[in-house]
Amino acid sequence: MLLKGKPAAEAFLEKIGAFGLPKLRLAVFHPGGDASAESYLNAKKKLIERFGGELVVVSFPRDGAADHFWNLFDRVNGDRTIHGIMVETPFPTDISEKEVSSRIDPRKDVDGVSLVNQGLLYASREERLVPCTAMGAVILLEHYGVPVSGRRALVVGRSATVGLPLFKLLLNRNATVTVAHSRTADLEKLVGAFDIVVVATGRAGIIQSSRITDGATVVDIGINVASDGSLCGDLAVEAANEADRINYSPVPGGAGVVTNAVLLHNLWQCYQLQQEG
Ligand code: NDP
Repeated sequence: MLLKGKPAAEAFLEKIGAFGLPKLRLAVFHPGGDASAESYLNAKKKLIERFGGELVVVSFPRDGAADHFWNLFDRVNGDRTIHGIMVETPFPTDISEKEVSSRIDPRKDVDGVSLVNQGLLYASREERLVPCTAMGAVILLEHYGVPVSGRRALVVGRSATVGLPLFKLLLNRNATVTVAHSRTADLEKLVGAFDIVVVATGRAGIIQSSRITDGATVVDIGINVASDGSLCGDLAVEAANEADRINYSPVPGGAGVVTNAVLLHNLWQCYQLQQEG
């Protein structure tokens, strides 16, 4: 089966939209000058506006002064009319991910990067504001009825925003989870031992579909640009009818589509947390 993102995202959005959303405002710190980043930004804008909200773009030069960045950041962080904040990578030269994680208001943390929200996820089972891409992969699995509890799951990649939260989200759902990374030996053979493989490395074709066991599921989070300029994932689909044998999400049109639906959900959750004080 092909795990297309759009039906999963629309079903999820229908649930959120049913509550009648207030006017939600998301501030995105955007480095600018990168065509693919622009297209992701437009997709976010379109979705938020579809639900009556507003996306506020805060542009900054990548090589700009740290003081200038923190000035803008603190202003937005304290602005009561802004409900969520997202800082797109790559960060400006002198700004680290760690600094952003410790400075962002946890109630405005739409992508779950703050130390508070990370702490809730890893030190407990509370999934308050969880990184959108990781949660999107879980929603994709749920939408297509892929059983997780008791299954063997492999997460390939251990970044703070994708692989690591996915490990905890799958563990929370009672999968038996293994995490692979760049030092993992024999990854190509290892993948055959799992019911679910979620791959997020940014290495095109790192997993070959022929290595995946019959009936298993691959969620492909990777986004890579092929030599002809087209987008492709981390999974190399080696047969035209592979979706008859295994389940996998296509790139583009798979896991990435669900990410923005989760972003809207998290923004709404931020709004609710701010109403609580
Ligand atoms: P990072 O570069 O932060 O992390 C990549 C991870 O992959 C690291 O943990 C790294 O291991 C691991 N890795 C690299 N090479 C190998 C290898 N040869 N074998 C096994 N593991 C390897 O990337 P992100 O997590 O931010 O993103 C991963 C991919 O997901 C990218 O393609 C990105 O574009 C895409 N993405 C998609 C999103 C969406 O909405 N669909 C959103 C965010 C990202 P190690 O830790 O050892 O270095």
